[in-house]
Amino acid sequence: MEYLELNNKVRCPAVGIGTYQLSPAQARTSVREALKMGYSLVDTANAYVNERAVGRGIRESGVPREDVFLSTKLWPSEYENENAVDETLGRLGVSYVDLLYLHQPAGNWLAGYRMLEKAVREGKARAIGISNFEGKYLDALEKTWEIVPQFIQVEAHPYYTQRELRRTLDQYGIRLMSWYPLGHGDRSLIGEPVFREIGEKYGKTPAQVILRWHTQMGFAVIPGSRSTEHIRENLDILDFTLTPEEMAMIACLDRGERYYHRTDSQLEQFALWKPSFETE
Ligand code: NAD
Repeated sequence: MEYLELNNKVRCPAVGIGTYQLSPAQARTSVREALKMGYSLVDTANAYVNERAVGRGIRESGVPREDVFLSTKLWPSEYENENAVDETLGRLGVSYVDLLYLHQPAGNWLAGYRMLEKAVREGKARAIGISNFEGKYLDALEKTWEIVPQFIQVEAHPYYTQRELRRTLDQYGIRLMSWYPLGHGDRSLIGEPVFREIGEKYGKTPAQVILRWHTQMGFAVIPGSRSTEHIRENLDILDFTLTPEEMAMIACLDRGERYYHRTDSQLEQFALWKPSFETE
C-alpha cells in the first residue's frame, strides 16, 4: 500500500473502497472481501444507510481495527444533534473513526464543523474532512476553522481535475479524496483511447490506469464496486508508475466538466432529509 501523509501527520492509505449505493448486504460482503484482499481504507456515510453493515464487514474480515482506515460522513440532519458522533460510532461498532466528514454544505454546517473539531479533541476522530465544500463554502469555513481539515472529498476524475480548488488545498496541505473516480462507471471516460494505449504498455486495464492517475495526482481514491473481480483489479495499481509524458497525455482530457451538478434547492432538500438508519 502507498500512504498519504496528512497535515496532522496521520497516514491514510492511497486506495480504498467506496460503499455508495451498496445495500447493507452488498456493503458487508464488499468490505469483508476487500479487507481480506489487502485493502485498508473504507469509505461510508450516514446517508448510505449501510454503516452497521460496514462495521460487520470489518469485523468479519478478521483485520484488526487499528489496521483499517475507516471514513464516514455526517449528514446535514445530524449537524445539530449533539449525539450524532456517538450514534455514528455506535452503528459502526467502533470507538473512533479515522476520518469524519461533513457530507454536504447544507443546514447548520458551522455547528457540524464544531462537532468534528470536538470529536478530534475527544479522540473520536483521528482526522476530519469536508465533502462537496468547493468554492464559497470552503472560503467561509476557512475564516472560522480552529482545526484545519485533513481532507476534502469531491468529484474528481480526468475530465474534471479540480484545478482551481487544488490551489486552495495546497495552501493548507488539505488532501483531496476523489469521488466518481471512474466517472461513476461512465463508458466514455473508461473508453478513452489513451487509457487503453497506456494500459497495454503496463498490462493494466483502462480503469487501473485511471486509478493510478489519481494516486499520482496525490489524491486518495475510493472506487465503488460490488464485483469481487473489480475490487481486486482496483487494488492492483501500485506496481507501475505513469511517466510524466503519460500524465501529460491524460491531463489533455481535462474539460472542466463534471457529472454531478448540485443546485441550491438540492442543498435545501438535503438539509430537510433524514436518513432512515438501519435498525439492526
Ligand atoms: P466510481 O467512479 O467509483 O464508479 C463506480 C462504477 O464503476 C460502478 O458502476 C462499478 O461497477 C464500476 N467499476 C468499478 N470498478 C471498475 C473497474 N475496475 N472496471 C470497470 N468498471 C468499474 O463511482 P462511485 O462508486 O459512485 O464513487 C466512489 C465512491 O465515492 C463511493 O462509493 C462513495 O464512497 C464516494 N462518493 C462520495 C460522494 C460524496 O458526495 N461525498 C458522492 C459519490 C460518491
